[in-house]
Parts: sequence; structure tokens; C-alpha cells
Amino acid sequence: MSIQAAHFTPRRWLNLQEYQSKKLMADNGVKVQRFFVVDTAKEALEAAKKLNAKEIVLKAQILAGGRGKGVFSSGLKGGVHLTKDPKVVGQLAKQMIGYNLTTKQTPKEGVKVNKLMVAEALNISRETYFAILMDRSCNGPVLVGSPQGGMDIEEVAASSPELIFKEQIDIMEGIKDSQAQRMAENLGFLGPLKNQAADEIKKLYHLFLKIDATQVEVNPFGETPEGQVVCFDAKINFDDNAEFRQKDIFAMDDGSENEPIENEAAKYDLKYIGLDGNIACFVNGAGLAMATCDIIFLNGGKPANFLDLGGGVQEAQVYQAFKLLTADPKVTLSWVEVA
Ligand code: GDP
Ligand code: MN
Repeated sequence: MSIQAAHFTPRRWLNLQEYQSKKLMADNGVKVQRFFVVDTAKEALEAAKKLNAKEIVLKAQILAGGRGKGVFSSGLKGGVHLTKDPKVVGQLAKQMIGYNLTTKQTPKEGVKVNKLMVAEALNISRETYFAILMDRSCNGPVLVGSPQGGMDIEEVAASSPELIFKEQIDIMEGIKDSQAQRMAENLGFLGPLKNQAADEIKKLYHLFLKIDATQVEVNPFGETPEGQVVCFDAKINFDDNAEFRQKDIFAMDDGSENEPIENEAAKYDLKYIGLDGNIACFVNGAGLAMATCDIIFLNGGKPANFLDLGGGVQEAQVYQAFKLLTADPKVTLSWVEVA
């Protein structure tokens, strides 16, 4: 691989918090709820009063999904809470901020919650699932949707695959009205809601392109009894190769949820993900690294990490990679595989 190609090797996968993703969506005309972001219980209470809404929803801001069904180390159940009484917001926030939230997608000990979203809650009459992904097998973007949204889309995909709808987009031609309409219909939006949903889908697609996303996931993509289509949740991932032209977005990443070792690895353009086993994996190429992790699992072992050196790696990076791995107290064995 040439030096130049090596320069463009992705460093890491950027993920933003829900509030940051929703800000991008709101700025681009996508329908989200009014919200504030706070980091103390006192601010949460003030924000709830300022919103002056019939009902408030409090949401823990961590990158993992499944927050609704999560549990805090304070004992509080649920990373998403609805209340009609703004006074309760302060009490709830006290049991959320500073505690770890454990969900299906976090490590067992959970992830510390530093920020809460305080939003105007809306009634939801129906929850659907909508996402846009950059799909290698389709050579471009794909819309994915299901009328059965809300929590546990993975279960829908496993038990009722016929309820998952896809729409492949030709990146040169862009999204067609007919495709947005068909997706809205497949999601079960009826009457005027169909046009509204199609409109949101098109706006989300334009945003997806504009910000160089690899994934925009909205679950639930819901409707209210008053006849509004609203993005109730938001998860956006970005293409790290686009960092040079998406500086504002990449500047939003505070690395707060990365393990220190992940941030250290990123400094040297290494992709490191910590896992809970004891076998260090030192591999070049993400595909080979994944296959290596699989082989270790299949043979009853557990990887301590996933370290992708990437193509075109230089000597100094290899040195740093060895340093990182040997400094990890979990590591008792190493597997080095270089293609
Ligand atoms: P996740 O569990 O991390 O995916 O968090 P979500 O933002 O998707 O929230 C979980 C669930 O809380 C949603 O599926 C909704 O059922 C519910 N929820 C979230 N926001 C609202 C809201 O404004 N109003 C109502 N009624 N329910 C909400
Ligand atoms: Mn969700």
C-alpha cells in the first residue's frame, strides 16, 4: 500500500451522543423534540421548568443503546424516564447523573452517565424503525425500516424478517420520491402521515450524505396521536475518512467514553477496542482481526482486545502497539497475525 493510502487509513469510528445527533438533525429540518442538555440535577430541574411541557422525558446520554431497559448503579431502573411533574425531574436526575448505567449493549459494570437530555415528551401512538446505512454489499446507501420499531429491533429481524424492508439508493441518482413513499408505506404510515414520513426520510437521507455518515438510525421513528412524525431517538456514526471535511462534527467527540488505552491508541492511528478476555490480538486489517477473534472464541479462548494496525502501518506504530498491549494487565497471551 502506498504511503498516501496509509495516510487515509481510518483512525477510529466516530459516534456521537444522542443530543449531538439530534442537534444535527434539528439544524437540518428533521423533526425532533425540544430539549436541553444538563450535567447536574439542579440544571435538570431548571430545564424541565423552562421547557414548560405537559410531560418531560429524561434520558441518560451514553453511546450504548437499550437505555430504556437499563439499570443504574444507584438502583434506579430505566435510562429513559417520563414524568408530568417537573419537581420529580430533580429527584430522578440525582439517581442518574454520576452513576453507571448498564444496558444490553454496555459492559457489565455499565457506563458512567455525565449528561442527561431533558426533553419535551410527546405521546407516541406507534413506534417504527428507520435507518440509513452505507452497505458494502449494495455498493452504497440502503434505507432499512420496520413497522415494528421501538425496543429490540434485533429480535424483529430474527423472528419476523418479513417485517424488515429495504430500499437500495443509487448514490449518483439520490433518493427518489417513490422510494421514500414506499418506505413510508411499508412503515405503516397512513393518509397525510405518509407524506410527512416520506419527507422526514428524504431529509434524513440528505443529512446522511451531507455529514458523511455511515449510519443514521432512528428507533423509534414514531407518530404522535396529534399526527406528527417524530424522530424520538438518534444514533449517527461517521466515516472517519471524512474527518478532513467534517471538522466541526469530529470536534464534538470528547472521547469521554473511550477507555484511556483507546485514546492512546488513536494518537498513533491505531484502532483499538478493549474486550474482557486475556489473549491480546495484534493484527493488520479489520477483517483479519475479526476472523482472529472468531477463531479464538471458537477454540474456547477470549480476546483481550481487538487491535487493528491497518494497512500501511509504520514501524513507530508497531512499537506503540506492542507497548499498549504489553501494558494491559489483562493480557496473559498474545496472538500476532500479520498478512
Ligand atoms: P433506547 O432504549 O436507548 O433505544 O432509548 P430511546 O430513546 O429509544 O427510548 C426508549 C423508549 O422510551 C422508546 O422506545 C419509547 O418507547 C420511550 N420514549 C422515549 N421518548 C419518549 C417520549 O417522548 N414519549 C413517550 N411516550 N415515550 C418515549
Ligand atoms: Mn432507541
